[in-house]
Parts: sequence; structure tokens; C-alpha cells
Amino acid sequence: MTKIAIIGAGLSGLVTAHRLKDHFEVEVFEKSVAPGGRIATRYADPFRFDHGAQFFTARSNSFKEFLIPLIDQKAIARWDARFVEYEKNQIVSRRDWDDEYPHYVGVPGMNIIGRELAKDISIHYQTHIEQITFDGQWQLTDQHHSKRYFDWVILTLPPAQAQALIGPDINFHHQVSTAKMQGCYSLMIGAEEIDLGWDAALVKSADISWISVNSSKPGRDAYFSLLVHSTNRWADQNIDMPIEQVTDYLLDEVKMVIAQPMNIKHAQVHRWKYANCPKQAGERSLIDNKNQIAACGDWCIRGRIESAFLSAEDVSSKILESLKAV
Ligand SMILES: Cc1cc2nc3c(=O)[nH]c(=O)nc-3n(C[C@H](O)[C@H](O)[C@H](O)COP(=O)(O)OP(=O)(O)OC[C@H]3O[C@@H](n4cnc5c(N)ncnc54)[C@H](O)[C@@H]3O)c2cc1C
Repeated sequence: MTKIAIIGAGLSGLVTAHRLKDHFEVEVFEKSVAPGGRIATRYADPFRFDHGAQFFTARSNSFKEFLIPLIDQKAIARWDARFVEYEKNQIVSRRDWDDEYPHYVGVPGMNIIGRELAKDISIHYQTHIEQITFDGQWQLTDQHHSKRYFDWVILTLPPAQAQALIGPDINFHHQVSTAKMQGCYSLMIGAEEIDLGWDAALVKSADISWISVNSSKPGRDAYFSLLVHSTNRWADQNIDMPIEQVTDYLLDEVKMVIAQPMNIKHAQVHRWKYANCPKQAGERSLIDNKNQIAACGDWCIRGRIESAFLSAEDVSSKILESLKAV
């Protein structure tokens, strides 16, 4: 049976593994301890934070269909947030998210999505693939210098990390080397409860772009928590700033925007070097049949959960077609 290695257990890697596992021998390699990638939840007892993706929407029929079992088993629910827009520290608009355009979250945390999808898939965690070389077969080498052999490799990593693994002989090397990702800082705040009058806020004309009352999402515990994102622009300009300095700066920005006293019990920042990417015009996924390697991920389409899914679906169809398994 054809052996396929998928590098990365974010949403695109997990969806690709699901689509291919009944046709081939599939193994997934993930450098961190858990699945989900940028769909992540951080625990800082008693507080919980979704410090990566906040929510997602579903426009395509295939993504809507994919969500049905997760909704049925209550791993995903709608978040009907009271939504506001701030212009610096002034609220300029208000509306409630509703049926017209549902916003979904994982329950009780965004990380449940990766956990559910990781079931029934062979995943090697804490396995950082540092080198891949092709000589009729692919040889993967991890951080412990262990070597494993596969017929095909699928890269589901942000482009800079994918580029580190491939050479210019791969036909999508150019796309991988020129795709740009933007950074983001996530500030996690645990505090005594205050009434802001909203659950989610888009912020303009500041160095933060988003504040959510994380604890207002469905199925969360009662501890009041806020999740704040810096703008991508500020993060890129300050990506090497010491994390304590970033924390202080972003705390000042939040206090400026919400203009209410807060009794803060916990504050922590996570740095996402590769968080997001603007809309792309090219193919939804990339394949090099001669070299038996492919790549997918949100960055092929747009920095969104649904894009990661659509890119994975696309690469899976291309592999099935290429190996005539359809
Ligand atoms: C702060 C932030 C906020 C966001 N907000 C939203 C939002 O509100 N709505 C929305 O729709 N989207 C949002 N997104 C984007 C969304 O999270 C992504 O589009 C989606 O999760 C990307 O999935 P992916 O599988 O393509 O990549 P990833 O999730 O990045 O998966 C790649 C995986 O590869 C692993 N990896 C990397 N290198 C190696 C290696 N050498 N060896 C082994 N494993 C490796 C990584 O650890 C990771 O698990 C947000 C992202 C961030 C960071």
C-alpha cells in the first residue's frame, strides 16, 4: 500500500489524513504535544483561553457538511455574541450575531476540534520533522535523527516552515517561498468579572484589533477571561520585542479601549509568528507529481479555518486522482 506522510496536525493536516486514510497508509507528524495547530486553547487555572482562532463561519456546502457530525456531538456550537465595533475607545456600532450568518466555536474550547479529528488517525506528537530528502522514496528525519520512509509527503505547514524543508527542484517552491504570513500577539487576561455590555469587539485605530470575552462563549466555565489580539501590523513591526514589554504595551491598549477599571489576576502573551495571511489568488493546494510531494493549508487561500479545510479537501482530491484511488 502507498505510504503517505503528512507533516503538521493542524486542521488541514487532520482533514487530509481523514480523506486519505481509507486508501493509503497514512501517518501524521506533529512537532507539538497536541493536535489543532492554530486552533488552540491555553489553560491557566482557573482561566481558559482560545488564544489562536476565535470562531469560524461556514460558507461552502462541503464545509457545512463536514461540521454536521461535530455539531451533532456538541463539539461545536454557535456563539451568538453581542458584537460591537470600537473606533479607538468609542463604540461606533452594535449588533448581535444571529442565524443569518452563524459564528461557530469549539465546546468547551477551540482545541476540541483538533482532538475530535485526531481520533482514528496515526499521529506522532512531539516529532519535529527537520529534514526530508527524496531518492525514489522520501526519507523524513526528526529532531532525534530518527528516519522514516514514505512514498509521498504532504506539507500542511505555514509556508516559511514548508520552505525550510524543500529545495528549488520542487515545482511549488516559488509559491512557498513568496507567500507571506502575518504575525499576531494574543494577550490572555483573567480578571474579576466586569460588565462590558458586549461579548466580542472589533477595534479600529489602535494597535489591538480584537477583544473577546472568552468566557462568554458557549460551554465555558464561569471565570471571566478576555482574549485580545494585536493588529498583524503591530506584531510584524515588533515581532522580536521581549514578551514582558509586549504584555505591558497590550495591557495599556486594552485599558485605553475599554476605559473601565479591571482587577487583573492573570496576564500572559502568546507570540504567533505565522498567524494569518491575506486572500490569495492561486491554486487551493499544490502538487508535484514527479517528486511525489504536495502542500496545503490556509495560506493557499486565506487565513481562515474554512480555507484550511478547503485547501485540505483540494489536495486530497489531487492525490486520489494522481494515485488513481478514486
Ligand atoms: C491569533 C490567531 C487568530 C485567528 N483567528 C481566526 C478566526 O477568528 N477565524 C478563523 O477562521 N481563523 C482564524 N485564524 C486562522 C486559523 O487558525 C487558521 O486558518 C487555521 O487554523 C490554519 O490551519 P492549518 O492546518 O492550515 O495550519 P496550522 O494550524 O498552522 O497547522 C500546522 C501544524 O504544523 C505543525 N508543524 C510546523 N512545522 C512542523 C514540522 N517541521 N514538523 C512537524 N510539525 C510541524 C504545527 O505545530 C501545526 O500544528 C487565526 C489564527 C491565529 C494564529
